[in-house]
Amino acid sequence: MYVCKFGGSSLADSAQIKKVKAIIESSSERSVVVVSAPGKRSSDDIKITDLLYSCEQAAAKGESMDSLFAGIEGRFNGICSGLGLDPGELTGELEEIRKNISAGYGPDYAASRGEYLSAKLLSTYFDMIFIDAQEVIRLTADGRVDPQSYILLKDRIADGNRYIIPGFYGADPEGKVKTFSRGGSDITGAIAARAAGAEMYENWTDVSGLLMADPRVFDNPPGIREITYREIRELAVLGANVFHEEAIAPVKDAGIPINIRNTNDPDAEGTVILESRIPENVPVAGISGKNGYLPVHVEKFMLGRYPNFNSGILNSLKSAGLSADFIFFGNDSITYLVKQSGDDDVNRIREILSGVSCDRLEIESPAAVFGVVGEGIGSRAGIGAAVFTALAGKDINIRFTSYGGSRVSLLIGIDESDYTDAMNAVYSALK
Ligand code: ASP
Repeated sequence: MYVCKFGGSSLADSAQIKKVKAIIESSSERSVVVVSAPGKRSSDDIKITDLLYSCEQAAAKGESMDSLFAGIEGRFNGICSGLGLDPGELTGELEEIRKNISAGYGPDYAASRGEYLSAKLLSTYFDMIFIDAQEVIRLTADGRVDPQSYILLKDRIADGNRYIIPGFYGADPEGKVKTFSRGGSDITGAIAARAAGAEMYENWTDVSGLLMADPRVFDNPPGIREITYREIRELAVLGANVFHEEAIAPVKDAGIPINIRNTNDPDAEGTVILESRIPENVPVAGISGKNGYLPVHVEKFMLGRYPNFNSGILNSLKSAGLSADFIFFGNDSITYLVKQSGDDDVNRIREILSGVSCDRLEIESPAAVFGVVGEGIGSRAGIGAAVFTALAGKDINIRFTSYGGSRVSLLIGIDESDYTDAMNAVYSALK
């Protein structure tokens, strides 16, 4: 069987929901469905989840949330009538939610109601059994997946029946509603796939899978048919985010592939994320990169004698809310690439690291980082040569590089001003 998760754009209005119904009904394998709250119908629309957060904020400040809540009611009632359901189907639920938000149930409760209402409504329309995520999905106090969820959900699913579960939330250790971070319905889908022992976790969205490069930058990049969990993790840190990162662990551990598919083009096969793939035909899966890093270069003679030196610096940066996304090691030096967060970063970093005992600390001019990611990186000759030759051809200086640290990526740091040229040159050399 398959677990299918449908994102907000697939559920934004009744026309989209009819497509979802056709997808579910086209295969009897699709017996467990996880849904998001209705998302944007157009680029200037507001997601139901955002409206719910705004209602909660208004209520917390003692302001009226009436017009915001009317917007939510209007969206759900519109969906009901568009689907031919009784427009009053959700009236009782909506009234209770309004009361509870006003009574101070808090942001997690408020935000979770988008998914709750979506699943309630669709359980009628799809004729599926509704399972409330609060009863079966458990989150730890710091918002992570509690593995108990797999058992609780498994116990509720029986062969031959079809189920619908709201995404994005579960219960905290005290049983109160708690949400995952934004986009967290992906995580619920992954938990459900693992609990149900699914053959495949289908993640339905509005793109036909992943592309080799950012389509906003390059014309018609080729689609990726298969990509490994390792490759997707490397691309995620480089800014290519299509899937919630915490949604990978539950399925990866159980060896369940994830298929990213397009509700608006259900015939497209999309991208399958899996444990391993044969890199022969497609050694490079993708190219991605980010601007805006400050290289913090620290030198200390005989660095190897100080095992806590690196972790001390990382902890200091972290406690100041800064993250070193990439780290390049020398024998007696380390360069941390810290994502810029404001104008005064240089002075802030100097102050944060002022207590570090080292021979030299330098904050260098801003850098960009891009990565060439693929299972062929560590096993195929010529990829590095092609990348370096392409950069040399444009006279681009390489400031840092790491080849094979992750086995599947070649990371390159360059001047920010070279970023676009470098990406173009490398993309043309590898596509
Ligand atoms: N509705 C939630 C959000 O907008 C969760 C999700 O869609 O996955 O973040």
